[in-house]
Amino acid sequence: MECHRDYAKEQLEHWQEQCGRQGPPALTTAAGIPVGNHRNVLTVGPRGPLLVQDVVFAEVMTHFDEERIPERLAHAKGAGAFGYFEVTHDITQYCKAILFEHIGKRTPIAARLSAIVGESGSADTVRDPRGFAVKFYTEDGNWDFVGNNTPIFFIRDPMLFPSLIHSQKRNPQTHLRDANMSWDFFSLRPETLHQLSFVFSDRGIPDGYRHMHGFGSNTFKLVNACGKAVYCKFHAKTDQGIKNLTVEEAEKLASKDPDYGLRDLYNAIANGNYPSWSFYIQVMTFEQAETSPFNPFDSTKVWPHGDYPLIPVGKIVLNRNPVNYFAEVEQIAFDPSNMIPGIEPSPDKILQGRLVSYRNTQRHRLGSNYLQIPVNCPYRTRVANYQRDGYMSISGNQGGAPNYYPNSFNGPQDQPYLKESSENISGDIQRFNDENEDNVSQVRVFYTKVLTEEERERLCGNIAGRLKDAQLFIQERAVKNFTDVHPDYGARIQAHLDKHNAQDSKKGSVHSCTQASSKTGKS
Ligand code: NDP
Repeated sequence: MECHRDYAKEQLEHWQEQCGRQGPPALTTAAGIPVGNHRNVLTVGPRGPLLVQDVVFAEVMTHFDEERIPERLAHAKGAGAFGYFEVTHDITQYCKAILFEHIGKRTPIAARLSAIVGESGSADTVRDPRGFAVKFYTEDGNWDFVGNNTPIFFIRDPMLFPSLIHSQKRNPQTHLRDANMSWDFFSLRPETLHQLSFVFSDRGIPDGYRHMHGFGSNTFKLVNACGKAVYCKFHAKTDQGIKNLTVEEAEKLASKDPDYGLRDLYNAIANGNYPSWSFYIQVMTFEQAETSPFNPFDSTKVWPHGDYPLIPVGKIVLNRNPVNYFAEVEQIAFDPSNMIPGIEPSPDKILQGRLVSYRNTQRHRLGSNYLQIPVNCPYRTRVANYQRDGYMSISGNQGGAPNYYPNSFNGPQDQPYLKESSENISGDIQRFNDENEDNVSQVRVFYTKVLTEEERERLCGNIAGRLKDAQLFIQERAVKNFTDVHPDYGARIQAHLDKHNAQDSKKGSVHSCTQASSKTGKS
């Protein structure tokens, strides 16, 4: 067994041991005023009513009322840890980012690994893509690598992002997860086929967070010291090896130990069994991007390894558990728009949409000064700008420095050597419909060449196991899409569905589908 002790279970004992012989500290209010009694409210007589002047009780209760901050809309349940990134290979020919400066260089990091759809109390062993987010605290500010455990995403146009998440979350009336909503959306958007095929494969239920890969998922741009740029994909491959849970194991754990993923990561680190990931890039020149047979900025596509081999860069190591979950994990805020010099966005539409959305969501969750919270603070550099005030400004608000620009009084100045790479773009301004791009070729390679016969069979069974709960006209539309990938893919799913539907009709619970044929078109 990898984990020797259940440190997560023994956390309070460890805390007490760390305190040594000091004994407990004196109890105070949040204002630091000593508290004489924390057990009893102040009343008139032993059975009498409470007094408004019991300010200790008032503080205890009102602070408790406000303990929860808005839950993350997506990625609500997650585990966090800290560690470092170490460069093992020189990539300065592609990228001038300070963390890749020289072999052996270490940069402190924070990571949050999460499931996407469930709420903060949901089980860690559900079938879902996993978030893989790493904050690199560099001397040039923080770089947030905000990816998933899959190299691709469900959609390629960010306009559909809220609908994608809505369709996977709860029905607005019943407040239940709803297979009709999920599969209606998926089947109307065939670009989801690639991600669906990954998520319903064995890797859709990773065994905890240590045994899965991480990917930047989007396409980025790397710029070297001479200003030359290439496009890039980031990959973080688990050094622990891929390990997945079977559906049966996952279901058992969901009821027995829904926090399995958090516990596994915490105990591995507490036992000194530090998880690590080997970090790679794929690069594509601008010329290659122009002639590529697929759109390299389409986040439903991978870059084939044969054409764009993985280039080793370094190692991500997690070697410290959070000291306080809320302070360091709940409050950690990732934002792909935090890119340091040398790393820039590509035209990837999903990435461009995320550049707007994450900052906004973190402000909503944590307030306008969320970057002053210690875990988010770029502590290896000095923040100097013209932003002031707002809720919870806690770092001095930049004192007496001028708060307008330009100024003649020693306010922070531009650093002209730090220009973004220059790029010539022209085109018609339109809302381009990319619905009918090639949604199947890469999925076909995955289905026919990457998966084994047994994996294909499990994939089809897993899809049917969920799709069976949708109405028949939705099932039919989904099966048609899978058939477009490969006739065997569609046929196998249909065979599994037939079994489920036959069982259901025996039980007398056939899905209502009186207008099945009339609804198969896109509505
Ligand atoms: P390769 O044929 O060189 O390698 C296959 C890739 O598939 C490996 O990276 C493997 O990961 C990964 N893989 C295996 N099983 C699964 C699974 N159940 N879910 C997700 N990924 C899995 O890849 P190519 O680049 O030639 O692409 C072929 C197809 O492989 C693509 O169409 C795509 O569907 C899939 N793929 C490609 C990736 C890429 O970035 N190019 C990444 C992941 C998948 P491992 O290295 O751990 O064995």
